[in-house]
Amino acid sequence: MEQYLVDHGLKVTVVDTKGRCLVADRDFSPGEIVLDQEPYSSVLDAESKSLRCDACFRCSENLQRCSACKSVSYCCTSCQRKEWKLHKSECQMMVKLSQAKQKLPPPSLRLIVRLVIKRRLQASNVFPRTNVDNFEIVEALPTHFSETGEERLVLYAQMSNLVKAIVTPLEVDLKETCELFCRIACNAHTICDDEFRPVGTGLYPVVSIINHSCAPNSVLLFDGRRAIVRAIQKIDRGTEVTLSYVELAGSTKTRQKALKEQYYFSCHCTRCMNAETTEGTREDSILEGYKCSNEQCDGAVIQERDQPYFRCILCGLTHDGDKFKRLESMATKLTEEANAAVKSGNDARARSIFEQTEAIQTTLYHRYSVHLMRTRDGLLKVCMSLKDWNAALKYCHLTLPAYERSYSMKSPLVGLQYYTLGKLQWFLGDSLEEISGVEVLNRAKEILSITHGSSSKLVQELSSMLLEVNMEAAYRVQKGLMK
Ligand SMILES: [Zn+2]
Ligand SMILES: [Zn+2]
Ligand SMILES: [Zn+2]
Ligand SMILES: [Zn+2]
Repeated sequence: MEQYLVDHGLKVTVVDTKGRCLVADRDFSPGEIVLDQEPYSSVLDAESKSLRCDACFRCSENLQRCSACKSVSYCCTSCQRKEWKLHKSECQMMVKLSQAKQKLPPPSLRLIVRLVIKRRLQASNVFPRTNVDNFEIVEALPTHFSETGEERLVLYAQMSNLVKAIVTPLEVDLKETCELFCRIACNAHTICDDEFRPVGTGLYPVVSIINHSCAPNSVLLFDGRRAIVRAIQKIDRGTEVTLSYVELAGSTKTRQKALKEQYYFSCHCTRCMNAETTEGTREDSILEGYKCSNEQCDGAVIQERDQPYFRCILCGLTHDGDKFKRLESMATKLTEEANAAVKSGNDARARSIFEQTEAIQTTLYHRYSVHLMRTRDGLLKVCMSLKDWNAALKYCHLTLPAYERSYSMKSPLVGLQYYTLGKLQWFLGDSLEEISGVEVLNRAKEILSITHGSSSKLVQELSSMLLEVNMEAAYRVQKGLMK
C-alpha cells in the first residue's frame, strides 16, 4: 500500500491520540482528486437493486438479471463477466437459499458474505490481489471491539452464525466474522449518487484511513461504486487529509454525540475546539438554541448551566424553559408524522404537517436553526414532488442562509442547493428578471466543479443550462436596446 500512497502524493502517519492519519505529501489544489478506489466489498440497497447494475452501480434501463439466482442484475455482459469470479460462489449460495424458500439476506449481511468469499478466492489465487485490494488492509482497520455495546455484539454473533450457514461449505471463524461486523460498522461508507441519495454500502480500506473533521478539507463522492476523494480547499504538503463522517449541520454537542455513538471517539478539530470560546458558544446556540423573545435582539437562548431557566446569550433576557420544551416536543412529534407521510408517499399530507411544524419552529427557533432548515428542506422536497414550483422556490430561498451557515461555503450540499434554486428560477422564468438567476447558477457551478469535478455529468448539465440562460439574457438585452 505504501508504494501506492507514494505514487499518489500521500503517506500514512500514526498519531497517539487518533491512530493512523492520511497526510498529503505534496500540495493538492481545490478540486484535485486525492484518492480514488474500488471497494473491497460492496452491496446495493434493497431499493437500488432493481434500478442499478450490481457491478458498476450505475442506473440502467437494460438491466439483465442473473438467470441462475435472479438476485442481481447487470447493465451489460462486460459488467457481468467482470463480476462473475466473485458472484459465482455467491450465486450458488443464493440459489440454495431460494430453494429453501428463504428470503434474501439484508445488505449488511450480504456485504460480509461477499467479503468472506473474496478473501477466500484471493487466498487461493482465483481472484487477483493488488497492494490496495487485499484482506490484510481490511484487517488493519480498527474494530473498536471492546467499545462495542453488548447488545450489538449479540446481534453480530447471531448474524455471524447466519453468514456461516450461508457460505457453507466455506469454513468461517465466528469470532473473526463478528469482528468483521464491528469493522464494517465503523469503517464502511454509504455509497451515494451525485445528489447524496444513498444507493448502497462499500468498504474502501484506504479511504477509511482518512480521519474525520467537522471542517473537512476534502469530500467523498462516488462514480458508480468507485469512491473519489477530492480536495475542497488547498491542502498543503504535510497537512492531514480529512473528511466528514457525520451530518455537519448541528451544534458541537450533537456532532460529538453522533461521532461517539458510531465511531467511538471525541473530535478535536478546529470547529470543535472553537466551541469552548464565546464565539463558538454563540454559533452553537444559533444552530440549535431557541429564539430570543426580545424583538430588537437577534440572539439565541440557551439553558443557563445548572439552572432551570434559559438566558439569551446576546441581551441576557431570561426565558421560561417549559414553554420552549412544550413547543419543541410538539414540533418533534409533527416532524415524525410528516416524515412518515413522506415515506408512505402521501405528499399532500406531509406538506400540511410540515407547514404546521414550520409555523411552530419559526416562533421557537433562530432563523439559522438547523431544525427549521430541515423542515423547510422537507417542504422544498414535497412541494417539488407536488409540482408546486413557486412554493418550492420560496422554501429553497429560505434554506440557503442556514445551509451556508451550518455547512461550509465549499460544501457540495451548498452547491447542490444553489443548483436547485437556479433550476427553479429558470423553470419559473424568474432568472431573467434579475441578474441573480445567472449568479445563482454560476455560484453552483463554482462549488460543484470543485466537489464533483468539472467533467462530471452534473456539472456538464449545469454548464449547458448556464449557456442557455446566458443566451436568453443576451437576447433580452438586445431586444430591450432595439425598442
Ligand atoms: Zn454495469
Ligand atoms: Zn447469480
Ligand atoms: Zn469536530
Ligand atoms: Zn436577546
